[in-house]
Amino acid sequence: MVLVIGGGVSGLMTAWILLDKGYRVTIVAEEWRQRGDKSPDKKADRMTSQIAGALWEYPPGGCGLSEIEVPVLAYSTLAQYRTWALQSFLFYKLLAENDSLVAEKNRFGARMITLYQFFQKLPAPPPSEDQNPQGERTQEADPEWKKAKNAIKYGPNDFNIQWGYRHQAPVVDTDVAMEFLMNRVRDKGATLETRHIREDLHLQERELMDDFKADIIVNASGLGAKVLASDNQVFPVRGAVRRMTLDNNDNAALDGMDLVLLPAQYDTRNQPGKTVFIVPRNEKTTVVGSIIQRNNWDLALTLESPEVEDMWKRAHGLVPALQTRKPSARPLAQGLRPFSHSNVRVSADNRTASCRVVHNYGHGGSGWTLAVGCAWTCVTIVERMLHRAEAGSVANANVWGLGGHRGAD
Ligand SMILES: Cc1cc2nc3c(=O)[nH]c(=O)nc-3n(C[C@H](O)[C@H](O)[C@H](O)COP(=O)(O)OP(=O)(O)OC[C@H]3O[C@@H](n4cnc5c(N)ncnc54)[C@H](O)[C@@H]3O)c2cc1C
Repeated sequence: MVLVIGGGVSGLMTAWILLDKGYRVTIVAEEWRQRGDKSPDKKADRMTSQIAGALWEYPPGGCGLSEIEVPVLAYSTLAQYRTWALQSFLFYKLLAENDSLVAEKNRFGARMITLYQFFQKLPAPPPSEDQNPQGERTQEADPEWKKAKNAIKYGPNDFNIQWGYRHQAPVVDTDVAMEFLMNRVRDKGATLETRHIREDLHLQERELMDDFKADIIVNASGLGAKVLASDNQVFPVRGAVRRMTLDNNDNAALDGMDLVLLPAQYDTRNQPGKTVFIVPRNEKTTVVGSIIQRNNWDLALTLESPEVEDMWKRAHGLVPALQTRKPSARPLAQGLRPFSHSNVRVSADNRTASCRVVHNYGHGGSGWTLAVGCAWTCVTIVERMLHRAEAGSVANANVWGLGGHRGAD
């Protein structure tokens, strides 16, 4: 039996794979998905996994500055992020194809659309064909690029766009997908319990395992890992999105572009720039973001907050066609991206030789981009630990070279 802590995309994806492999699973979380615009409680805020764009981005993602901070000491490298992202890409692509074949109530909520990614300075190192097999550079002769250039404020007096590429990318309607994931794990037999877990898991591992009759614990608690893993490298990056709608419910492409991303880049003084992302979430709603504010825990932004106004001005400054949208019923969503200075952590906790906790947290602004790949790695570590325990050994999972580059973990 596996106890999964966390009811966000990381916990539910991990639980889904475990259930498919025949494990019994209990998921404990203090917060679950809200039913979005359908929620009877209009004040209820969506959880972080719902607030996400959720756009798939080839790492390092643009929405959260550089996702990869200290590759040498980190739990995971850029190469690992890319593998996880590509695993997730393939899975969402399959789900998007499946969505077009099944009844609405059975849909996951994924779509493949064309992402136009623009840069104000050349990213370093520049993506090459082999680094981003999905990508296409800007082609002056390409009529699609001509259309795109006309649709945005491209030139030196506006956004001074230097470079760009486009490719097919999955976009997930997170309200639909979180509902799908909850139903999926329930149908497959998971038990769901609402509970706040206090303190480091390390201190209460035995107690929790006895309470839940669990053989092992997966910690997919996002920012909660700051406490549950006593990890002071975990920190929030506040973000917000405006939710816009069209009167006629026809979420037409923005002058030929499905989805626009201008990632935050560092300027010549090494100061972080600002980002724009415009993501059509479904036929009705376009999500417009975003804000990147490190170490800010305060979720009290309003439409009138200066940074929200600035975000909106920036977005319709870049793509003027956006101004035809109207604010949707719940026009602002805000959340805390669960970042870690040590990058994503999918690894066993080895603070004691007998520890039976596997971590899956620190996904920052890329939780959906990485979710499927991270869940597979997490399950692989869980299985190896269980297998070794059965064989009478209690050595930790990093012995097999999985889930982390920090030798000490
Ligand atoms: C504005 C914004 C835009 C974003 N855009 C994108 C995007 O375009 N693409 C993308 O890939 N990602 C995006 N993200 C990031 C993405 O939302 C996160 O990386 C992802 O949701 C992390 O998922 P998680 O399951 O790890 O954590 P969470 O969704 O935070 O879930 C954590 C779970 O753990 C539970 N928990 C925590 N502590 C405890 C405790 N002590 N006891 C019990 N339960 C606990 C919580 O209740 C919750 O159920 C965005 C985020 C924001 C805020």
